[in-house]
Amino acid sequence: MTVGVLALQGDFAEHISMLTRLGVESREVRKLSDLESVDALIIPGGESTTIGKLMARYELDRAIHARAEQGMPIYGTCAGMILLAKDIEGSQQPRLGLMDIAVVRNAFGRQIESFEADIPFKPTPERPVRGVFIRAPIVSRVGAGVEVLSEFEGKIVAVRQGNLLATAFHPELTDDERVHRYFLAIVK
Ligand code: GLN
Repeated sequence: MTVGVLALQGDFAEHISMLTRLGVESREVRKLSDLESVDALIIPGGESTTIGKLMARYELDRAIHARAEQGMPIYGTCAGMILLAKDIEGSQQPRLGLMDIAVVRNAFGRQIESFEADIPFKPTPERPVRGVFIRAPIVSRVGAGVEVLSEFEGKIVAVRQGNLLATAFHPELTDDERVHRYFLAIVK
């Protein structure tokens, strides 16, 4: 199994490190041929407008869309969550639009642009996961096929729809491997 990490912009290196720590083969995805050889894809945090534009420029948007429809699992963190969303409130920016959710960008306000917290995560009921939030989005609407995996202070911050997983926070910036393990279980 090879897990691709979209490496156009953002914190892809941290996802690669996490996968390496978990003993999983990974590959940076920058062009169409990279995508062909992976079994799953992680879309990292970063700037969703930039990643979205670059995805379109390299024709990765349509290719990722097609692979997802054939069942390829995708995990998006933060900007990755925004790119997976069907609706982005107040924005027409390019996106994959694969998940039946709406998101609000930078939803935690300017004063608390970034923070770390213990986040209850349904698949790991034994104890919360450590989440780093950096100008994070929240999910403001979920469609019928979407499972809410985490709410923090009344805001939805992790969701799953079939093979698609998205978190508003960045587990790849912590030592907590459990969200990635959960994604790898979806891949298997
Ligand atoms: N605020 C960024 C965006 O809207 C996301 C930030 C992140 O990925 N850490 O694209």
